[in-house]
Amino acid sequence: MDENKRNFLKKGTLLGLVGLVNSIAGKEKFIHLKVATNYLSGTPSFKLPPLPYAFDALEPFIDKQTMEIHYTKHHQAYIDKLNANPSTNLDYRADDISNCKSVDVSTSPLVRNNLGGYFNHGLFWTLLKPNPKTESNLAEGKLSDAIRKDFGTFDNFKKEFSESAAKVFGSGWCWLIVKDGKLKITTTPNQDNPYMKVAAEQGNIVLALDVWEHAYYLKYQNKRTDYIGGWWNIINWKKADELFNTK
Ligand code: MN
Repeated sequence: MDENKRNFLKKGTLLGLVGLVNSIAGKEKFIHLKVATNYLSGTPSFKLPPLPYAFDALEPFIDKQTMEIHYTKHHQAYIDKLNANPSTNLDYRADDISNCKSVDVSTSPLVRNNLGGYFNHGLFWTLLKPNPKTESNLAEGKLSDAIRKDFGTFDNFKKEFSESAAKVFGSGWCWLIVKDGKLKITTTPNQDNPYMKVAAEQGNIVLALDVWEHAYYLKYQNKRTDYIGGWWNIINWKKADELFNTK
């Protein structure tokens, strides 16, 4: 066994243990386990994380066709590009890719765009709640209190976030993050996210909204504000509160 292979297996075992411990702790760290498994099998590759609901589960706010294409084509494409360039991304896999925090993406546009696309979408799916109810979908738990503390009212937060998301020029994301103990709204271009060192505002992600045209164009065409308006009905506030509390 050559040294590369040995290091490769060593990293895999380590990640496997980390994954196991996190998994026992009840955290959603399935990506660690997946990566570790791939390392140990000798065929490292990024995999599409499971979608936690059916393609039509977010109807009518996100239509079935958009969801299917977004997940099986767009999300998959970022993964395919990472896997097609193993020499570029291999080192990055040794890092904690489930949170992007330790990855310096500034030297490689390929890693920046595709690791970002891989991570951002995996998180975004979990922040959407299937089977929307007719009553208002409001923030929960400690996050709800923090929103009122930092934005005055939930409606004010909703207004500010919606305006920021609408203003993203071209393709990008709108985020709610925790920075220096306070909630803050920020946006990133392309597939950047606030965990990246290249981001203008860094912080821990609580909410994510994809405002690329591919996320809404089939149903909403140029009406991004209608897509944003619909999104408030399908936010998974339980997951957002969980992210807020684990920081
Ligand atoms: Mn997208």
